[in-house]
Amino acid sequence: MKILAINAGSSSLKFQLFEMPSEAVLCSGIAERIGLEQGNFTIKFDGNKHESERMIENHTVAVNLLLSSLLEHNIIADYSEISGIGHRVVHGGEAFADSTILDAEKIGEIAKLASLAPLHNPANILGIEGFMAVLPNVPAVAVFDTAFHQTMPEDAYMYATPYEWYEKHAVRKYGFHGTSHLYVSHETAKFIGKTIEDSKIIVCHLGNGGSLSAVLNGKSVNTSMGFTPLAGIPMGTRSGDIDPAIIPYMMEQTGKTAEQIVDDLNKKSGFFGVSGISSDARDITKAIEAGDTRAKLAYDIYTKRIAQTIAAYMVDLGGCDAIAFTAGIGENSAAIRSDICNQLSAFNIIIDEEANNRARGVAGVITTGESAIQVVAMPTNEEVMIARDVMRLAF
Ligand code: ADP
Repeated sequence: MKILAINAGSSSLKFQLFEMPSEAVLCSGIAERIGLEQGNFTIKFDGNKHESERMIENHTVAVNLLLSSLLEHNIIADYSEISGIGHRVVHGGEAFADSTILDAEKIGEIAKLASLAPLHNPANILGIEGFMAVLPNVPAVAVFDTAFHQTMPEDAYMYATPYEWYEKHAVRKYGFHGTSHLYVSHETAKFIGKTIEDSKIIVCHLGNGGSLSAVLNGKSVNTSMGFTPLAGIPMGTRSGDIDPAIIPYMMEQTGKTAEQIVDDLNKKSGFFGVSGISSDARDITKAIEAGDTRAKLAYDIYTKRIAQTIAAYMVDLGGCDAIAFTAGIGENSAAIRSDICNQLSAFNIIIDEEANNRARGVAGVITTGESAIQVVAMPTNEEVMIARDVMRLAF
């Protein structure tokens, strides 16, 4: 049975087609620059890559383009071969603690949550509606970035702000990257020979965006992103946590609006803001090698804040069986993993530099036998989790 995993943004639509239950990836690709003058469509399968340029007026056009290219490349013979569709949805608020089969009512609930995720949920709905227009009878499932973190205890998700901010305005920590934290915590438990029901795992999802989670017996009990993905550790272009009083102060200093300052915190901070060079970890590492001191500072702030967050999660978990590094940086940068772990000597974590250097894009233990806590590199796979949830809920 063939299942599509979809990640729709405001101007892009990413897809992966799975054969289930074997989880073989039949093809993947992206429609980009939707709604702009010149769009771009890419599909990859069997080691081939096909790219085409044309205007993609809206998400329904992108869906039609994707489906017709599956026919064109003989990946499917008929649309009826697509048995289910899973959609990544960023914000499920408190309404969704699990993935859900989509119907008009559920789509309405997701639309209502748009005030919490104004950039993301409306774009996710465009993808959902695009498929409903073309394949109205194929079951569709929403998989939420926030759902895994709905198990956080109240004292982890509540801010120490006036209680009515929560009651009247839903201000609380939600957390994101949940699908990745769920997948990686399970894979890590298996990898170190523990059952997920009896494990204490800290997951460090370090990509362009980044977040950590504390996973106790398979349940998220804390995470570093907050009410929005701006919170927590510094990222490619995001500041992570700052003193909130900086915002009105900088509004007064610069004459900018609150929205513009928050935009600076989202898009002009992190690696990019501190270094003035790039949001990309590889560029930062290169600049450090060339002697750039601000790139070094951006890097040092990053690794220190991650190490401190790991230390904090020892409190949430009452110890730790394993720390897992995942996503672009976590899976590939041996230097960043080692520079984080070397700041955790208080916990007797001892990196095996050779094993660490070998673990690039593959799962591997990167600590020595003497290390008090095992540290692993663990590739994430959010798309397969989406396909699995379609199978679990729709069949
Ligand atoms: P996104 O959040 O966009 O999904 P990714 O998980 O793809 O991000 O991660 C992107 C980050 O991973 C970038 O900072 C990039 O520099 C970093 N990265 C990717 N490959 C490597 C590598 N081989 N070494 C170091 N960093 C890498």
